Formats: sequence, structure tokens, C-alpha cells
Amino acid sequence: MSPARLVLATGNRGKIREIRDLLGDLDIEVLTCDDLEGWPDLVERGETFEENATSKAMELSHWAGMAALADDSGLEVEALGGEPGVRSARYAGAQGDDAANIARLLREMEGVPAARRGARFVCVLVLASPRGESIEIRETCEGSVITAPRGELGFGYDPVFVPAAMDRTMAEMDLEEKNAISHRGKALRHLRAILEAGEPGWLLDA
Ligand code: IMP
Repeated sequence: MSPARLVLATGNRGKIREIRDLLGDLDIEVLTCDDLEGWPDLVERGETFEENATSKAMELSHWAGMAALADDSGLEVEALGGEPGVRSARYAGAQGDDAANIARLLREMEGVPAARRGARFVCVLVLASPRGESIEIRETCEGSVITAPRGELGFGYDPVFVPAAMDRTMAEMDLEEKNAISHRGKALRHLRAILEAGEPGWLLDA
């Protein structure tokens, strides 16, 4: 029997690295945009992480004719009423300009005292089949936003996010340490437990 296959609905290298690190040793072939030609433009139009992850997973799965795993994630800052939230990747305008996004975040939070700098990373994973079946997982990582970037590792807002009860930013942690506590790490371990239990049947029987 050939192993189950799924394709990752993201072109973000940081996410691909983290997902491969956590699912790579399962008996499931994990494909990316590098393996398929004519990759569709997966546009995020939703107002929630769930809507975006579902539409990306469904669209790609339908196009590729195999199961697709989408991650929608972002940073919710309490003092900003949950912003940048689903707009995290394009907070400063251009899609995925990490330095500009951090600069805008720090500007918006200027003068906010340490006690009110609480934030959380959110990760929603959706695994979908071409026939419209899906499973959804949500996990978070609580912490706070500091006033100046520190660290070179990771991606996105990692240099300004310090997880609760820690003193280093996520950009000062290696991948293993970050994955042990991060929103995406938790969500992928949750997914891994489901896959290891032989679920969902539609993925393994495909
Ligand atoms: P999207 O899920 O592709 O819409 O983008 C999520 C955006 O949220 C990323 O571009 C980052 O700006 C931010 N983000 C999500 N997860 C992380 C993380 O683990 N570290 C830092 N930033 C993240």
C-alpha cells in the first residue's frame, strides 16, 4: 500500500520547516509548492483564522486532488483589541514583510506599559480532502510583546514575542525549543496524535 499523501497549503518557508520538523517522520508523504506545477493563488478573504485555513485547505485539496493541510496563524495583541490577528502577515501593507510588520506593531504599542503588553499567537490547522471532508485544530501560545526586537532565529513577530514565564524571545530559541511551546508546535502535535491513532480514515484510505 502506498503511504498517505498530503500537500501543505503554504509557501512560507518558516512554516514549511516547522511542519516538516514535526510531521516528517510519520508514514505520510508531505508535499509542498516545490513539488507541484501551476500552484494556485490561495487568497485569504476570511475574518477568522478558521475561515482562512478552511478555504485554503479546501481550495488546494480540490486543485491537487489529494488531502491538503493549511495553517492560518497570527498574533493577537490585547492592547490593540486583537489586532493584527488575521492580518498579521500584511499588517504593514506588503505581504510577509516581517521587519515592516514589527516596526508597525511597535509603533502602535508605543507607550503601552509592560503590564498591558499581553498577546497570543494563534494557530488553526485544517486538513481537508478533495471530497470536502475536513478536521480543524486550534492552539495558542500566550506571552507578551517587548519594546525592541531581539534574536535572529524564527520568522514573523518572533523577535518581539516573549512566551509566558520565559525571558527570551522566540527568535532567541532554536527550532526544537520554539516547537515545544509554540502555537503551531502544539497544533501539529495535536494533529500528529490524531494521525497516529489512524484518523481521519479518509486520509489513510485515500
Ligand atoms: P498567514 O497564516 O500566512 O496568514 O500568516 C501568519 C503571519 O502571522 C506570519 O506572516 C507572521 O507574521 C505571523 N506568525 C504566525 N506564526 C508565527 C510564528 O510562529 N512566529 C512569528 N510570527 C508568526
